[in-house]
Amino acid sequence: MKVHLRVFVEIENLGKAMNALTDSGITGFYILEYKGMSPEDWEGFSIKEDPKSAIGMIRDYANDAVQICTVLNEEQVPVVEESVNKALENDRYTIIEVPIRKIIVNYGNQDKKAKEVDVWFLEKKVPCFYCGEDAAQRIRVDVNKAKIWCTNCGATRHYIFKGVENPEE
Ligand SMILES: [Zn+2]
Repeated sequence: MKVHLRVFVEIENLGKAMNALTDSGITGFYILEYKGMSPEDWEGFSIKEDPKSAIGMIRDYANDAVQICTVLNEEQVPVVEESVNKALENDRYTIIEVPIRKIIVNYGNQDKKAKEVDVWFLEKKVPCFYCGEDAAQRIRVDVNKAKIWCTNCGATRHYIFKGVENPEE
């Protein structure tokens, strides 16, 4: 299962928290800045409801804080928790972990275009390994694999190139 992990820290600890996440193997995250009031500060508090008082309260009492958010595999979570705890042992932080049911990513046209650039199509008229006919053999070369098929009988062979890095896998 994938987990949406959010680390809430005060703004002066942002660098420490980011390094702790990077150390634990997180490669990507996003950051949200917010004004935070801790439950202890807020308890028993009530404000006048006009906008000026509300905004004034935020200016005077709320702390500048950040939320660092990332998506990771469940197995990685304890590693991240430990790393954050080590880096921020003496600081205030909150971690919230939310299970993710589904992720939908739409790349628009970008992904398709990128893929098309990476794929080559070749055609060569040679005797087919299967039917023996001197027929056009179509070759599709992807980043780390190739597919060759016979235009006469349809026999297909697949090849995987070893030792080629594919960032998608
Ligand atoms: Zn053939």
